[in-house]
Amino acid sequence: MSRYTGPVCRFCKAESAKLFLKGDRCYTEKCALTRSETGEGKTKKTSRPKAKVSEYGIRLREKQKLRRFYGIQESQFRRFFSIAEKMHGQTGHNFLQLLERRFDNVILRLGLGVSRAQARQLVMHGHFQINGKKVDIPSYLVDTGDIITVKETSRTVPVIKENAEAAAAKKGGGAPDWLEFDATKFEGKVVSVPTREQVDAPVTEQLVVEFYAR
Ligand code: SF4
Repeated sequence: MSRYTGPVCRFCKAESAKLFLKGDRCYTEKCALTRSETGEGKTKKTSRPKAKVSEYGIRLREKQKLRRFYGIQESQFRRFFSIAEKMHGQTGHNFLQLLERRFDNVILRLGLGVSRAQARQLVMHGHFQINGKKVDIPSYLVDTGDIITVKETSRTVPVIKENAEAAAAKKGGGAPDWLEFDATKFEGKVVSVPTREQVDAPVTEQLVVEFYAR
């Protein structure tokens, strides 16, 4: 199945939540969700009362919200959930941890991509190495101790250079506590696997677990 390449702000509107799918724009007043919440950019008024949402509908929306947040197709999303179910501990936490450990997500978290879509594309173009070996698979799962580097020849690619400079300008590099980034070396490190508190996905993961358990 081909990947969706159309407008993405509509996903945030559908879920009534910021899913941060457009990079820097998401943090500005140009964000379509912010504009619609403040009344700006509204084209028509809707007076229809909202239909009551079923339990199934609530769980479905939560699952879709999480899937769109990470920009993953259903088959792969389901596969990750199956892996999470087989792990020790809480399935919901395991699931979030697996999603967060994806290589495309890690590139975003390190600041080397401004959105998951951009990070995924950069990974697929082979710009990064893990422990000295090229990895161009966005779903690759990083682990504690892994060293992520930008390939020597990719360090002058404008978008990577700009992103690395912007990350370096942020307080503490902008990376979450479970990662470290040294912009001068174009190098990141996985310090630990993320805890639930370190994952900022705007979801109640238990509802996603209940959706798949039905
Ligand atoms: Fe969502 Fe970003 Fe679009 Fe805002 S700008 S609606 S956060 S994708």
